[in-house]
Amino acid sequence: MFRTNTCGELRLSDAGKEVTLSGWVQRTRKMGGMTFVDLRDRYGMTQLVFNEEKDQELCDLANKLGREFVIQITGKVNERFSKNDHMATGDVEIIVETLNVLNTSEVPPFTIEDKTDGGEDIRMKYRYLDLRRNNVRSNLELRHQMTMEIRRYLDEMHFLEVETPVLIGSTPEGARDFVVPSRMNPGQFYALPQSPQIFKQLLMVSGFDRYFQIVKCFRDEDLRADRQPEFTQIDCEMSFVDQEDVISLFEGMAKHLFKKIMNVDLKGDFIRMTWQDAMKYYGSDKPDLRFDMKFVELMDVLKGSGFAVVDDAAYVGGICAQGAASYTRKQLDKLTDYVKRPQIGAKGLIYARIQPDGSVKSSVDKFYSQETLLQMKEAFQAEVGDLILILTGDDAMKTRRQLCELRLEMARELGLCDKKNFACLWVVDFPLFEWSEEDKRFMAMHHPFTSPKPEDIPLLDSDTGAVRANAYDMVINGVEVGGGSIRIHDSELQNKMFELLGFTPERAKEQFGFLMDAFKYGAPPHGGLAYGLDRWVSLFAGLDSIRDCIAFPKNNSGRDVMIDAPSSLDESQLEELNLQLTLKEK
Ligand code: ASP
Repeated sequence: MFRTNTCGELRLSDAGKEVTLSGWVQRTRKMGGMTFVDLRDRYGMTQLVFNEEKDQELCDLANKLGREFVIQITGKVNERFSKNDHMATGDVEIIVETLNVLNTSEVPPFTIEDKTDGGEDIRMKYRYLDLRRNNVRSNLELRHQMTMEIRRYLDEMHFLEVETPVLIGSTPEGARDFVVPSRMNPGQFYALPQSPQIFKQLLMVSGFDRYFQIVKCFRDEDLRADRQPEFTQIDCEMSFVDQEDVISLFEGMAKHLFKKIMNVDLKGDFIRMTWQDAMKYYGSDKPDLRFDMKFVELMDVLKGSGFAVVDDAAYVGGICAQGAASYTRKQLDKLTDYVKRPQIGAKGLIYARIQPDGSVKSSVDKFYSQETLLQMKEAFQAEVGDLILILTGDDAMKTRRQLCELRLEMARELGLCDKKNFACLWVVDFPLFEWSEEDKRFMAMHHPFTSPKPEDIPLLDSDTGAVRANAYDMVINGVEVGGGSIRIHDSELQNKMFELLGFTPERAKEQFGFLMDAFKYGAPPHGGLAYGLDRWVSLFAGLDSIRDCIAFPKNNSGRDVMIDAPSSLDESQLEELNLQLTLKEK
């Protein structure tokens, strides 16, 4: 028997017991004639004691143990003289009687401690060692608890977990596909699913009624903190439902997770905000509502005073940062630089402080009377000590997005992004289409299977861009944690949709013929949603990047630096695949 107990288990009530423990050597300390060893496993850490006076030979052996040696000991549980409140096992120690070295270890390339000396690259290269660290492991434990709760909830709601294939054909969902060559079908390729969208819809045609899958999805996109080339979705679909049904069931799931995992009671219904309002007031389809700073438009108030930057702008709007009038000139210059950086692209920043006497002192005083500035103050309902920040621009949507970045930066600076505070909402009524300047055609904002709002169907031809979708996203703290839609289940409407998206009937048939055929055999009304598991876990764990809740993630260039993938193929493999490689010069 390798062990009677784990390293996180023993308490004062176990004092006197003979135990066997196995684990890794965290560290050793020699103090006079005593040697202390911290023994670690997944469950915790236990202090071992070796006494030179009692057994010189055993103690010598202990003194030779290096970090990360794997050992097995037997000994007696003893009450500790100086207890350690920070450790669950801190009241006891083991007086070791036998020591068996199960395996030695080279000196690890970084310290396996909560605060390690290893940088990102080295930790990724030796990810199996990084995963020994408490904080990394606990993220995966949290992930496990969450998937268990998700399965419990969905099972109770009669969802069936069904696996769908990973080697499929291309599905147009807005991102690039990863492709896999087929040996048995020379010159042909599978694509890895960006999501199981079509399969889950077909399962509804098959009468499965409620489907879910915790499933890997693949998108060949440029990577950011909240994106990985392969990521996990909690993918769901339901039949005979409308938008309200889907929203209420998945809001229920969100509340269930908050309660079970975080012990947070989310009271009342989540806020619903139309996409139009989200863009108008927050410049984003995923507004962070932990703080206010709603946009106020100032075209009416500020235009016509001879200040060209404002007079010639299509959009003039701002935010009011409470209590930030104390910002120094230097801080304001820094903010100005922030919005002017190329990624954001604003031309400049106008600011105004509300003075202790209630008057307004702005960076554009020479263009505006105090009366106009007071009207502006009124528009924000600003108070003494507040700071108003204004952007202008000739493209309203662009300027709103810039203002959104400024709002988020202010929130960070003012310490309003409390990770323990959760602001949940649904963004609804997304546009069905989005115009692509590049392709000079409409694209599906969500995907081509999303249904238009019935009342907007008459606009499909006449005012395509104005048609709203039966689509919804759940947003928490500015993160899109999931989204879905009610689907089209009528083959005629689906054909119309393909036509509006620029598919010729032949191409639509070629790509989606099977789906159109399926819809001819009694497709029920259906809809669903997919939650991003990685984003949920990182939100609950308070992480800045989803990478930290994935056991073996890829780096920013999409590489797994541990196994060194992707890599080249042998000539013989290419031969088997009937492929010849000619790399294009970039
Ligand atoms: N397949 C969609 C996505 O991956 C989610 C859905 O519509 O259910 O975004």
